[in-house]
Amino acid sequence: MPISKAVPGKKYGRAGRFEDKEKPTQIRESNITAAKAVADAIRTSLGPKGMDKMIQDEKGDVTITNDGATILKRMKVLHPAARMLVELSKAQDVEAGDGTTSVVVLAGSLLDAAAKLLGRGIHPTIISDAFQQCAEKAVDVLTKMSRPIELSDRETLLKSASTSLNSKVVSQYSGLLAPLAVDAILKVIDPSVATNVDLRDVKIIPKIGGTIEDTELVEGLVLTQKTASGSSGLQRVEKAKIGLIQFCLSPPKTDMENQVIVSDYTQMDRVLREERQYTLNLVKQIKKAGCNVLLVQKSILRDALSDLALHFLNKMKILVVKDIERDEIEFVCKATGCKPIASIDHFTLDMLATADMVEEVSVGSGRIVKVSGAAAGGKTVSVLMRGSNKLVLHEAERSLHDALCVIRCLVKKRATIAGGGAPETELAIRLAQHARTLGGMEAYCFAQYADAMEVVPYTLSENAGLNPISTVTELRNRHVNGDHNAGINVRKGGISDMAEESVVQPLLVTTSAIELATETVRSILKIDDIVNTRGG
Ligand code: ADP
Ligand code: MG
Repeated sequence: MPISKAVPGKKYGRAGRFEDKEKPTQIRESNITAAKAVADAIRTSLGPKGMDKMIQDEKGDVTITNDGATILKRMKVLHPAARMLVELSKAQDVEAGDGTTSVVVLAGSLLDAAAKLLGRGIHPTIISDAFQQCAEKAVDVLTKMSRPIELSDRETLLKSASTSLNSKVVSQYSGLLAPLAVDAILKVIDPSVATNVDLRDVKIIPKIGGTIEDTELVEGLVLTQKTASGSSGLQRVEKAKIGLIQFCLSPPKTDMENQVIVSDYTQMDRVLREERQYTLNLVKQIKKAGCNVLLVQKSILRDALSDLALHFLNKMKILVVKDIERDEIEFVCKATGCKPIASIDHFTLDMLATADMVEEVSVGSGRIVKVSGAAAGGKTVSVLMRGSNKLVLHEAERSLHDALCVIRCLVKKRATIAGGGAPETELAIRLAQHARTLGGMEAYCFAQYADAMEVVPYTLSENAGLNPISTVTELRNRHVNGDHNAGINVRKGGISDMAEESVVQPLLVTTSAIELATETVRSILKIDDIVNTRGG
C-alpha cells in the first residue's frame, strides 16, 4: 500500500512518512462498533424469556436455537473484530459449556464502557490494565458469594441443570432432561475423586420419531446401525461374546488396479472355490474363538463384509453389525471392554467382550442395536434422544449438552451461585464501592466496568417484558440492603430471592464468562491497526 502520498491537512513525520494520528482511534472505534453489533444481535436471546433464532444456511438447512455459541457459529461474521466475539463464545463453550450468550452480552457492554472511557481521553493500555484488575476483583466477589456443594447433593445438581434447560426451546421438558443429565454424568465418574468429566463418555444419539418425552438413558452401548442378519432372523443374542474387527471379511484386492481375465469355466470355478474357502476359513476362525456377535468397522477401501462372508456368519449364528464408524471405535471399546482386532491372527478369546444381551430393537421408524450388561464395560452411557422433527431434536440435543456441561462445571468446581442477574448486580455494586476507594483514572475505569455488569439483569428484564430501568433500580436497592441473591423473577415478573426460586448456576460459568469477556475486550482495545494481506 503506498503510504507516502501527500494528503492535504495530514501531518507528516520526520521521514516524510504518513503519520495519521487519527487512524488508531478510528480503527479502534470501528472494531468496537462491529463487535458490539454482534453482541446486540444475540442480546434478545438471553434468559428464559429470550427469543430464539431461526438460521438458514446456504444449503437452505434451517436451525432453530437459543444457544449463543450455536447462533454465532452459524452467523456469517466477516469483520475481524466481530469474529473475536464468535471466538469468545466458542471459548466459553469449551471452558464452561453454558453461558455462551451471557459472555458475548457482557463483552458488548464492556466494549461500550471502554468506548466511553476512550472518549474521555484515557489511554487504551490504562483501560485494559484496569479492566484486568476489575475481572480479578469480580471473580473474588463471586467466589465469596458462592455456595460450596457436594456431588451427593442431588437436589442442587438438578436445580442447576434445570436453570440451564429453562432458557431453551425445549424448556418444558426440563423435568425429564435435568435428571437425565445428572444421572448420565454421575454414572460416568467416580464422584469422590473426579475433578473433570470426559463428555465423550456420554454419547447422545438423536433419532427422529416419538417426542422428547421418549428420550431415555441407556446404560451400556447403543449402536445406530442395525444388524446385518438379513433373512436369517438373528436379532438377539444372550450371553454375547463381542468381537470388533478392523479388517475386511472379503477377498483381498491387489494394491494396484488390474484385471484378471478368466476365459475358461473350470478356471472360474477354481477362483470361486478359492474365494469360498478363504472366506470360510476366516469365519471359522471367528467362530472358533467363541465369538457370537461381530462388529465390523467400515472400510473405505472396499466392502468390509462380502455377501458370502455374511452368509457364512448368519449360518453360524453370529450376529453381525457392520459399518461401525472409525470414530465410534473408542467409545465402543470403552463401553463394552472389547479390543479392536486388526487381523484374523489376533482374533482370540481375550480380545472379546462379554455382555448379557445384544439385541436389535425398533425405535420410531428405525432400528437400533442395544448392548446391555457388558461385564468389563467402562463407565459410559448412551442417551437415546427422541424428537418429532429434526429441528426440535437437534435443539434438544444441544440443550442436553449444555445441561451436561453445567454438571461437569460442578464436578470441576463444586460451588453454585444464584442466577437471574443476581451475581452481576452484586458485582456492579461491589465494584462501584471499590472504585470509590481508588483515585484517578483507575476509579473511572472501575466505575464504568461496574456499570457494564448491569447489562445482564437489564437484558433479562427487558426480554421478560418488564420495565428494565425500574426493575434494575429496585434490584440494585435490594442488593445494597444486603439481599445478595435477589434477581429477576422472569416468571412472576418482579424481583425475588433466586436461591429460593431454585435458579442456581455453577460458579464456574459466571467466573469464566467474566474472565473471558474481559480478556476479549482487552485484546480488542489493544488493536490499533488492521493489516490486510488478502487480495491485491
Ligand atoms: P446462556 O447461553 O448465556 O446460558 P441463557 O439464555 O441460558 O444464556 O440465559 C442465561 C441467563 O438466564 C443467566 O443469567 C441465568 O441466570 C438466567 N436465568 C436462567 N433461568 C432463569 C430464571 N428462571 N429466572 C431468571 N433468570 C434465569
Ligand atoms: Mg444457558
